[in-house]
Amino acid sequence: MPDITPHDLESVLRDWDGEASVARFDRESGAWIFIALHSTVLGPAVGGTRMRVYPTPADGLRDAQRLGESMTLKWATLEQPVGGGKAVLALPGPLDAEARRGLLRRYGGLVESLRGAFGTGEDLGTTPEDMALLATVTRYVHGVEGGHVTDPGPFTARGVRRGIEAAVRSVLGRDDLGGVTVLVQGVGDVGYPLARELADLGARLLVSDVDAGRIERAVTTLGATAVLPEEAWDAPCDVFAPCAIGGVLSASTIPRLQCRIVAGSANAQLETADDEARLAERGIVYVPDYVVNAGGAYAFALLGRGERDEARLLEHMDYIGEIVDAVLAESKSQGSSPLAAAGQRVSRALARGR
Ligand code: NAD
Repeated sequence: MPDITPHDLESVLRDWDGEASVARFDRESGAWIFIALHSTVLGPAVGGTRMRVYPTPADGLRDAQRLGESMTLKWATLEQPVGGGKAVLALPGPLDAEARRGLLRRYGGLVESLRGAFGTGEDLGTTPEDMALLATVTRYVHGVEGGHVTDPGPFTARGVRRGIEAAVRSVLGRDDLGGVTVLVQGVGDVGYPLARELADLGARLLVSDVDAGRIERAVTTLGATAVLPEEAWDAPCDVFAPCAIGGVLSASTIPRLQCRIVAGSANAQLETADDEARLAERGIVYVPDYVVNAGGAYAFALLGRGERDEARLLEHMDYIGEIVDAVLAESKSQGSSPLAAAGQRVSRALARGR
């Protein structure tokens, strides 16, 4: 990892409007540990732990801050008594298993020392095994109970499905998904269970993924039609569901989209703030990512309150559909964008918390 000047980290710290950033250099592994506490207006901060190699530590800190802010939006959308935060373990390069465990133990010690100001769970680059290990060091790991680690994917997927149903009602005037064409981009932990539910509901399913094995699974088990990753933008469909990576809605992809609705689990789907207007100009309704992908977070909040029954947890994901209904109705009645309507919902929740 290239050396950075103190100024890099300093400017990232200074330019952020969050409440506090915790930074620790882990000498043994060479990794930086960053915990970004964006807002505790609604309660103690909770967000996942991301682990990956960044070009510089300042990039890792910026990512933690950006993701922490999106957790504030998510918890406020859900009207939960939880604040926004995120942790990033910025690695100098790939770690062997022993070094990884050591880093996680020391990171767990740091989380424990914050005495509940930050709680965490799995995110990109961390695994259920990592969470089980963390839970041996700190009480503030969510979704781990007696060694069992809950996978948020199916809950996020159910929430996205409810969000798609709500958007299809609002935009297409259809009460069911029979014959509605949905392109699921990325059939992984969220995209695959989502695709399965959509197939069960009679949707016409298109899938794309960079992993040939995952495409094969969706084609053979769900009867989906495969679309090459670079052709996903051009495929005619009613709903485009990004469930892979962020930044997929951009000046270069939006003109190619052949859909009426965008609704999927990927975080930070808009590459820039201008991309929402680009979608609106094309008559495409964008369901804000942090609204429609909040199911996993919501499931963890319910688990924290003692709900253990998986079927009931899945039923609770109807709430995501209700929120999407409300956001799209407000957007229609005010003539504002869905993102603006979602922002107003967040502002109202934060104002009540102050
Ligand atoms: P995952 O890694 O299990 O699945 C992602 C899939 O996308 C993989 O199959 C991967 O091969 C594929 N992919 C990667 N790049 C691609 C590309 N350019 N084109 C097509 N496919 C591509 O991840 P996941 O847990 O399913 O999460 C998917 C997205 O949803 C991520 O952006 C994640 O941040 C977000 N998200 C996930 C959850 C959750 O509960 N897991 C919750 C909220 C948001």
